[in-house]
Amino acid sequence: NAFMNLIFDFDVVVVGAGHAGVEAAMASARLGARTALLTINADTVAQMSCNPAIGGVAKGQIVREIDALGGVMGKCTDVSGIQFRMLNASKGPAMHSPRAQADKKLYQFTMKRWVEEQENLTLRQEMVEAIVLEDFADSASPATRRITGVLANGGTYYRAKCVILTTGTFLKALMHTGEAKSKGGRAGDAVSESLSDSLTECGFRLARFKTGTPCRLNGRTIDFTKVEVQPGDAVPRPFSFATTKIDVPQVDCHITYTNEAVHDLIRANLQRSPMYSGQIESRGPRYCPSIEDKVVRFADKNQHQIFLEPEGLHTREYYCNGISTSLPKDVQQGMLKLIPGLENAEILRWGYAVEYDYAPPDQLRTSLETKPVEGLFFAGQINGTTGYEEAAAQGLLAGINAALKVAKKPPLVIDRSQGYIGVLIDDLVTKGVDEPYRMFTSRAEYRLLLRHDNADRRLTSLGRAVGSVGDADWLRYQ
Ligand code: FAD
Repeated sequence: NAFMNLIFDFDVVVVGAGHAGVEAAMASARLGARTALLTINADTVAQMSCNPAIGGVAKGQIVREIDALGGVMGKCTDVSGIQFRMLNASKGPAMHSPRAQADKKLYQFTMKRWVEEQENLTLRQEMVEAIVLEDFADSASPATRRITGVLANGGTYYRAKCVILTTGTFLKALMHTGEAKSKGGRAGDAVSESLSDSLTECGFRLARFKTGTPCRLNGRTIDFTKVEVQPGDAVPRPFSFATTKIDVPQVDCHITYTNEAVHDLIRANLQRSPMYSGQIESRGPRYCPSIEDKVVRFADKNQHQIFLEPEGLHTREYYCNGISTSLPKDVQQGMLKLIPGLENAEILRWGYAVEYDYAPPDQLRTSLETKPVEGLFFAGQINGTTGYEEAAAQGLLAGINAALKVAKKPPLVIDRSQGYIGVLIDDLVTKGVDEPYRMFTSRAEYRLLLRHDNADRRLTSLGRAVGSVGDADWLRYQ
């Protein structure tokens, strides 16, 4: 207690304002709980660490489900999306998957403003260092201890009935570019060290995963005459059931390819990649492989696609989708010189990989509350998932369930037959993970029924019943 020099009281405290954290905090506040959203840097609310895009196959369906339940990801994409495409449009309706390129800064600052404007919600820049528990006994609960709050840097105590941890890739995070290593959850950001120790001390099992990201380029130095144009849909279709029209100016993406010369360079430098030198031992996302992984695993392929995706309307920065890498800087530079259109491209940010702690999700109940600690919830990448949409979906449910718990009401649990969100959470808590988990249509046994265009009919009344769907959305739905 001597260290607690300032005390605040809330019903729900959410730690981390990434994609899980904003949905969790907004949902909890919508349900009427006095909520605090504490995050390391208030300028990176809902920042897209990797690809500036929302949706895709199965992920687009998740965003529509989040929207149907009253969440904010779809609405935010609609006001910041700069290229909308319906993927698999030539296939049957269950395969139709919305995806949008977002203006990265517009997305995050829109979300920050919505968080600031939300009633019952306090956004504050804080580094949370520990969870605080007390003993607990209740025959109806598997827990032996209960959360009482979190301790932030400098001895600030946030007392709360429920706490939701959504710390993403930040726990004990280590970034790698070739042989170079540095601490941080994302390039330019800090690392969350003590919270990891606090979780271990409180008896949670932690393990490690890794993920990676490609270099970003200055668009002024790309030769667009040598690359293919990829336009968006002629008439952009919004993500949210509430949006009638997309008003944001739309832009093209572009496509180029790697070739045998690029692959030879990668093979020659494979031992300098932390993934292959043994410097990184943790497992990465199998379905989002680095370019060095692709060259090794798909050795028969003589080219791989690279999507050049603009990061926004007010920047010339481009994201190189398809060449995620942790190879050293000189190899990254050398690769570009061999790729059509990128021969003279200037790197604005280097590619890198990040290793981080996650908490194996078999320690959770279907409400996303942890089994050992009453009132403590985990959501997002801390549960071993990957992807903004998977994180946001968990955040939404954790936020709803924390607020319901404060109100002494039963949790909202989505069944596998009702939505991809149900499949996601059920898979996590019943099977655990042995690699970063991302959603696929093949994971859902009811996938023919779980269409993006009927997400409202599947879920909106459930969201309304718990208080997550507002009056305007409910009226429109009816
Ligand atoms: P995040 O978006 O990471 O947000 C976590 C938040 O918690 C941050 O705001 C952070 O500041 C805050 N925080 C952490 N610790 C504390 C603390 N102690 N106190 C207060 N605040 C704290 N996903 C893919 O699907 N494909 C990819 O290829 C891919 N590549 C990636 C590459 C990199 C380098 C990184 C960093 C991420 C990548 N991701 C990728 C993952 C994607 O960014 C995450 O899945 C998604 O952002 C997870 O959302 P989240 O809300 O769980 O965490």
